[in-house]
Amino acid sequence: MGEGTTRDSIEKVRMVCGQCGSDEVTRDAWAAWDAEAQQWALRATFDYAFCHHCMTDAKIEEVPC
Ligand SMILES: [Zn+2]
Repeated sequence: MGEGTTRDSIEKVRMVCGQCGSDEVTRDAWAAWDAEAQQWALRATFDYAFCHHCMTDAKIEEVPC
């Protein structure tokens, strides 16, 4: 519990590469230190996405689990 709580109440999706369908995709983000939790917390996500399978920029697509 605790992690990923923002999506628990809605239908779960996977983020995949629009090119190859791999879920080894990441995107640019800022992490801010959460002193309460003693860990880095996601502060903001940006549009730039990268597929670690294609090893290039990616267009991320949302698909149902
Ligand atoms: Zn890909």
